[in-house]
Amino acid sequence: MATEGRFATLAVHAGQAPDPTTGAVMTPIYQTSTYRQAGVGADAQYEYSRTANPTRGALEACLAALEGGSRGLAFASGMAATDAVLHLLERGDHVLAAHDLYGGSYRLFQEVFGRLGLHFTYANAADTEGFLGAIQPNTRLIWLESPTNPLLDLCDLRALADGAKDHPGRPIICVDNTFASPYLQRPLSLGADISLHSTTKYLGGHSDLIGGALVVNDDDLAQRLGFLQNAVGSVPGPLDCFLVLRGIKTLPIRMDRHAENALTVSEFLAGHSRVASVLYPGLPSHPQHDLARRQMRNAGGMVSFRVQGGREAAHRLAASTEIFTLAESLGGVESLIEVPAAMTHASTQGSPLQVPADLIRLSVGIEAGEDLVEDLARALSSAG
Ligand SMILES: *Cc1c(COP(=O)(O)O)cnc(C)c1O
Repeated sequence: MATEGRFATLAVHAGQAPDPTTGAVMTPIYQTSTYRQAGVGADAQYEYSRTANPTRGALEACLAALEGGSRGLAFASGMAATDAVLHLLERGDHVLAAHDLYGGSYRLFQEVFGRLGLHFTYANAADTEGFLGAIQPNTRLIWLESPTNPLLDLCDLRALADGAKDHPGRPIICVDNTFASPYLQRPLSLGADISLHSTTKYLGGHSDLIGGALVVNDDDLAQRLGFLQNAVGSVPGPLDCFLVLRGIKTLPIRMDRHAENALTVSEFLAGHSRVASVLYPGLPSHPQHDLARRQMRNAGGMVSFRVQGGREAAHRLAASTEIFTLAESLGGVESLIEVPAAMTHASTQGSPLQVPADLIRLSVGIEAGEDLVEDLARALSSAG
């Protein structure tokens, strides 16, 4: 497919012409806070690295190209990027969010911005009509995630964006695209205003940095978010920007392998007698399999499942794999296993997101698929 080749080429080259002064093929790590000025008060492209840094600029241009946007903005973490979006709003504004959103986003909404006078409600975004019906006259922001964490539900981004745009208040539509990455799904092309990433995950891809990003396709939004990025100052350092750029070069081949292994693992789990259910949008049994095929290039690398024997059995299993490492986070080349209710999602107790205590989440890596299946088979028989 032509766009596939285009994407892979952009992933390697976008924003990264060889360095004009030395010819260096890799974007240099411009480890500097300040820049010599040509004269007092003279306009310069670079003055101070909170405002602009060439390594960060290369990453921002690359991200904009991959998401099909006009401007990318890099942040110190996914939460810092989220914080910048929320700062577009004013006291009294309402935010409608998908009810199964990332736990850290829920915490930021409730504990920080709730105290500052923003109002939040949560609804099931998989139900398009119901969700659109929950928009209020003062709704200024709609917050979506697809696929969601850890239940791997999808929402119809195009239908939700179209419906929300018809609303007289014209809320901003932000999609947390972390689980899909721009290789699998491009929210701006589906009608969203902002695509958000934790670059910590698939974009970085090697579990060696914390970072975040926003991509937009509207000059006014770009200008307001750029102002906030500089005014608040939660920017990433040049080394972390370099590492994300390096990770992005292999994003398409990594994502294809993640998805291939995730399908292999899901099919194995679905046929195992000790497994109660498997959640993976790439399985025909997933209730939104058709939407996944329409909206995503492939179904990605995240798989969740429930085991027979409840919470205790899930905890035993998660502690007995050898290749799958018991750890939080996701999106790196190595396979990880965790129990969301007791780990990543412990802080969502009492929130609208109900995570079953016996649910196990896998971030399926790019190792040999047969080894991953054997590891899970061993763990299932020893933990059973
Ligand atoms: C990890 C994650 C975040 C937060 O990103 P950080 O880089 O950890 O701040 C936000 N959304 C999703 C879906 C994530 O997985």
